[in-house]
Amino acid sequence: MAKMKGALIGCGFFAVNQMHGWQDLADVEIVAICDRDLERLTIVGDQFGVARRYQSANAMFADGGFDFVDIATTVGSHRALVELAASHKVPAICQKPFAPTLEDAKAMVAAADKAGIPLMIHENFRWQTPILAVKAVLDSGVIGEAFWGRVSFRSGFDVFSGQPYLAKGKRFIIEDLGIHSLDIARFLFGDANRMTARARRINPDIAGEDVATMLLDHDNGVTSIVDVSYATRLPEEPFPETFVEIDGSKGTLRLGKDYRLIVHGPDGTTETVVAPNLLPWASQPWHNIQESVALIQKHWVERLAAGREPDTSGRDNLKTFALVEAAYLSAERAETVSLQDLL
Ligand code: NAD
Repeated sequence: MAKMKGALIGCGFFAVNQMHGWQDLADVEIVAICDRDLERLTIVGDQFGVARRYQSANAMFADGGFDFVDIATTVGSHRALVELAASHKVPAICQKPFAPTLEDAKAMVAAADKAGIPLMIHENFRWQTPILAVKAVLDSGVIGEAFWGRVSFRSGFDVFSGQPYLAKGKRFIIEDLGIHSLDIARFLFGDANRMTARARRINPDIAGEDVATMLLDHDNGVTSIVDVSYATRLPEEPFPETFVEIDGSKGTLRLGKDYRLIVHGPDGTTETVVAPNLLPWASQPWHNIQESVALIQKHWVERLAAGREPDTSGRDNLKTFALVEAAYLSAERAETVSLQDLL
């Protein structure tokens, strides 16, 4: 069978993981790459042996010859690039955060729908091995019906050295990291209808908030807390692990440090390690995230081939992105925000 051909836009910090992920998929070939920064274009083009290189996405689309595009640029360019892909009827993956505003995100979904192309947001955290393990326990029914949950990411890791732009934006942790944690909450507990949030900035050297605590009312009655921090100094740095606690009608589940999963049910307590695989190109501590990149890309290829909507489609991700917007609104006004008013 002929290989599926892809193109990638944005050859920055995170795109290298995406290029490795594509290289590992036997039925995919990245045939063209684009970055307006010639240095990044050269580094990634040489590392992955991609001959077709462009500094302009318009020029790359004009030449065509690929079945999908992977947009790995920062948020400011997402709408224009997704709309460009739609105008060429090329299926698109777009990195998170979806867009600068919910209005932009809705316009991107509409553009993809109008063009009849699939659009997937690269929301990879729900594809992490430990999170998939938590979901499997929940679905098995061993802890009964969940009524309370917590998705927690607290760290003091210096993310700013690799991604300096994170220190400059007016919005930081909810939009950049909380978005993943909120998506995990949706993945585990279903859609939410109300958000109550508080946010703070502890690090004086950055522009946005680096601590947020969010309370979600889910449609099925689950109450969850999503708490995120990049201002938390712990004796052992857990970056980039997400901890999960779930209380159910028959038992409890705790995913803690070093990927230890404790499940307590009517038949007793089990403790397992649900650590991610360390892929050959991955490096600790990022390997958990890196493996999830490979897994979401595999999902995209399978769904594209089958003509089925991916799990984190643009349509689906609007609901995660609306939680981000709701969190900022709630924190700003110090009141609860209804999701219905946003979607
Ligand atoms: P980066 O700044 O290192 O890289 C972005 C690259 O895109 C740069 O090289 C820039 O020159 C290029 N670019 C920007 N606009 C362009 C355009 N219009 N045309 C061509 N090239 C363009 O950023 P990064 O840290 O790699 O982040 C990229 C995206 O990935 C962000 O949206 C970020 O939130 C996301 N990200 C996701 C994860 C995850 O786990 N899913 C992790 C880290 C970053």
